[in-house]
Amino acid sequence: MSRPSVTKTDLVVVGGGIIGLAIAREFAQQFAGMRVMVLEKESSIVTHQSLRNSGVVHSGIFTKPGSFSARAASLGGSLLVEYCRQRDLPVERVGKVIVAAHQNELPMLDLLYKYGMENGAPGLEMIGAEHLSEIEPHVQGIKAIYMPLTATVDYARIARAFADDLIAVGGEIVTHVRVDSLTTSTPNIVLITSMDHTQAQWQLEIQADYVITAGGLHEDLLVHMTNPQRQQDLLIVPFRTDYYVLRPEKRDLLRGLVYAVPDSDLSPHGIHFVPHVDGRLLLAPAAALAFAREGYGRKDVNPREMRETAGFPGFQRWALRHGVAAAQDIYRDYNKTAHLKQFQRYLPELTADDLQAGSSGVRALALLRNGTYADDLLIQRSGTVIHVENVPSSAATASLFIASQVAELAERELLLTRL
Ligand SMILES: Cc1cc2nc3c(=O)[nH]c(=O)nc-3n(C[C@H](O)[C@H](O)[C@H](O)COP(=O)(O)OP(=O)(O)OC[C@H]3O[C@@H](n4cnc5c(N)ncnc54)[C@H](O)[C@@H]3O)c2cc1C
Repeated sequence: MSRPSVTKTDLVVVGGGIIGLAIAREFAQQFAGMRVMVLEKESSIVTHQSLRNSGVVHSGIFTKPGSFSARAASLGGSLLVEYCRQRDLPVERVGKVIVAAHQNELPMLDLLYKYGMENGAPGLEMIGAEHLSEIEPHVQGIKAIYMPLTATVDYARIARAFADDLIAVGGEIVTHVRVDSLTTSTPNIVLITSMDHTQAQWQLEIQADYVITAGGLHEDLLVHMTNPQRQQDLLIVPFRTDYYVLRPEKRDLLRGLVYAVPDSDLSPHGIHFVPHVDGRLLLAPAAALAFAREGYGRKDVNPREMRETAGFPGFQRWALRHGVAAAQDIYRDYNKTAHLKQFQRYLPELTADDLQAGSSGVRALALLRNGTYADDLLIQRSGTVIHVENVPSSAATASLFIASQVAELAERELLLTRL
């Protein structure tokens, strides 16, 4: 590699996903004359979680009342839908049912209903089997929560619209640039980056007054650059969802979103069926532990990342509690018949021929030292570097709200002044 060339800016945002782009847009629009540069390691923005997701605007029903996630989903969802309307981006109000297939799921369904009411989820209704069959004639269940206003959107298009807004006010997006180190000991923050473009590799040194990291599946590595001691506290563990697409001739089997009652961790990472805004119907099984952070294929394995995960004390504690269930999810992930059986609990008419292989998405779950997930927003400031360490599982829904929260923090603690 050649000697690094040097460039300077006011704010660097690391990560060209929906969160990094929403933050960069907010700062460039809100703070007077600030030069904002987004750095993205891939050849284009919006390539990981922000591209490969279910496209649901969450309403906060899966989150504990009073948590940031609850506020983020309800306020963030409204902001997002309003933004889509202004930018003429698709929003489909398809409605959602959360279905209990068995008596033993009723206590959790009741708890979700209580959370939904306390979180102000609009139009919420508890319904019986008969009403369920009017809403979704092919779905089987004994009781359900009905949310008629839940919408679906296209998060990749929204994220690209954020990028357009950023560029319109003079912001810059540089792709093919990976941040390898962050040094905060000089008057400026120094980022050493490597560029890997058309076989050639070179280094670029970037000096910035402020840095915000939103690195998704690699955010912990960015955190460790400024806080090496956090290596013991935080590790991103990847969970993959392998979507199926319903054969187009069977598209009429479902009208809106259908979710299974989640297990005890209250996460919306379980079975769900999604009418995508592009017309396809996606069937998502429960997410399974992946063997590589960007492992989108079932055979993708990264031995170094697996060793790091296995050596993390928080993962060992997590595995003691959830290892058996995780192993079952992994087994099912390699077995279409097992997935089909799970889907048939809700859609008995489904056959193996109806399931076509779809794309996959890998979710970044931040595991803490005590073996639990950090599901709420976790923002850590280290001098003039702000790390968005963890985003809630409905972070795409909450992207505009998260960006406004980071800007408020910068205003309060870094004394930045708005326009
Ligand atoms: C299967 C699945 C379904 C989901 N469904 C929904 C849903 O229905 N509704 C919802 O609201 N949310 C959903 N989510 C969650 C949502 O998609 C994510 O929370 C959100 O996209 C996170 O955005 P991000 O910008 O933090 O991460 P990402 O989109 O992953 O972006 C992070 C970026 O940082 C870059 N990067 C990392 N390290 C570096 C580095 N060192 N240098 C330069 N660049 C770097 C990466 O290349 C990447 O492009 C889902 C997620 C998944 C995986």
